[in-house]
Amino acid sequence: MSFYSTPIEEIPAIREALVKGFASGKTKNVLFRKTQLIQLAYLLQDNRERFIETLAIDLKRPVLESNFLEINGTIAEAYEAFSRIEEWTKPEKPHFDLNWFFMRPEVRKEPKGVVLIIGPFNFPLWCLLGPLAGALAAGNTVLLKPSELSSATADLVAELIPKYLDPDVVRVVRGGVPQATKLLEYPWGHLCYTGNGRVAKIIGAAAAQTLTPVTFELGGKSPVIIDKSADLELAARRVMWGKCANAGQICVSPDYVLVHRDVEEAFIKEVRKVHTKSFGPHPEKSDSLSRIISPHHASRIKALVDNTKGNVILGGEVNVEERYVAPTVVRDLDGDDSLLSEEIFGPVLPIVKVNDVDDAINFITSRDHPLALYIFTQDKKVKEKILSSTNSGAAVVNDVSIHALAAGMPFGGVGASGSGGYTTGKWGFNTFTHFRTTLDVPSWLDKIALGSRFPPYTDVKLQD
Ligand code: NAD
Repeated sequence: MSFYSTPIEEIPAIREALVKGFASGKTKNVLFRKTQLIQLAYLLQDNRERFIETLAIDLKRPVLESNFLEINGTIAEAYEAFSRIEEWTKPEKPHFDLNWFFMRPEVRKEPKGVVLIIGPFNFPLWCLLGPLAGALAAGNTVLLKPSELSSATADLVAELIPKYLDPDVVRVVRGGVPQATKLLEYPWGHLCYTGNGRVAKIIGAAAAQTLTPVTFELGGKSPVIIDKSADLELAARRVMWGKCANAGQICVSPDYVLVHRDVEEAFIKEVRKVHTKSFGPHPEKSDSLSRIISPHHASRIKALVDNTKGNVILGGEVNVEERYVAPTVVRDLDGDDSLLSEEIFGPVLPIVKVNDVDDAINFITSRDHPLALYIFTQDKKVKEKILSSTNSGAAVVNDVSIHALAAGMPFGGVGASGSGGYTTGKWGFNTFTHFRTTLDVPSWLDKIALGSRFPPYTDVKLQD
């Protein structure tokens, strides 16, 4: 695939422009930040149709998914930051403490400086421009590095950013590994990386050399537990939606299902109905199914399906050149199956039978903490038991994936699924903010409380 790349030799000047932009002090002004944020919302709103087109080129993404899953949520991020910035930027006071009160203690919200945001292909707007809203609200200047894989959308982002946003404040570097590697040579006020765990290790190692603080928004295998008390029709509808939206290329896609053995057959029956209703007898002709981002990723998914020891009961077809993977359901798998080893990131649903809730909990806790955990049950005790015995970036009961768009909530992982801060709403603002402690200490305090700290350390002072 060919794509435009920023020449490596241009990168130092691009970064320097942002260093100067930050040093100019203009981003300290809240009104200036608000202008940038509303411009960001307009960038998306004015060009919605063009983004729908580029997302269709990159991912053959259906219009409804582009609006619902990506564009609306990204506009909401910019607009929320625009509307709440005064509240977010207000200095905070600690709880009252007579010993410290007279020093006027305050936590000021300062920008971190020039920050770098590296985005992935699967949500080339939400994962790039969503964090941008938080970074701008916090008063930083920002370098964006979109994924080279979603190149049509990256082209459009690169075209529009200078038209809508101040070039002293936001710049785009296009390209892949060479450009990202060059960017990693520099110290940044903050680095936000969204992508896979393998590359996160490379980025973390490079950031350690420059002492750059990092946020990792990663992925992994987000499990679904189907308890025997679950509403199976609802579970099948919602799980299949989450599995097939964006062709399963969602970091919080339900990766695999752990179903109670008593309801396995009934659940699979419901899954079959949803499959037929959603995609008909020829899913390859459906307008409701995205494509995989590249032939390389399609063949990776094909290998997972080819190597499974489970039974493929629905779908299974892959056309690597067309980047097509049929919505696929596989059952009767062992815990060490190929489909249970790595994040699938495609519309393939493995169903694993478990004996009971404890079995499901053990399965999950013996693996990395997932980005999301989904529980289908109508039994409050089961819900509480699972929530209190597991850990994950987020947990949703009786639905999947939608928490990523929930207003006012943090979004991120834990352990292997992410760390170092969140990228949504006020939580995103916090990620890109330095919380600066300030004290303003009156001279007269030395006459009372603070006087005893100065030498000579006499016995009288020791007794104070
Ligand atoms: P990708 O291939 O687009 O890579 C992501 C970014 O990393 C790109 O900008 C790419 O240029 C850069 N990159 C690749 N190799 C690099 C290297 N060696 N050094 C420096 N930079 C490099 O996308 P991906 O990583 O395949 O993204 C999919 C993953 O992202 C999945 O695991 C998914 O779960 C995760 N994800 C997480 C979130 C979240 O918010 N937690 C959101 C979306 C995707």
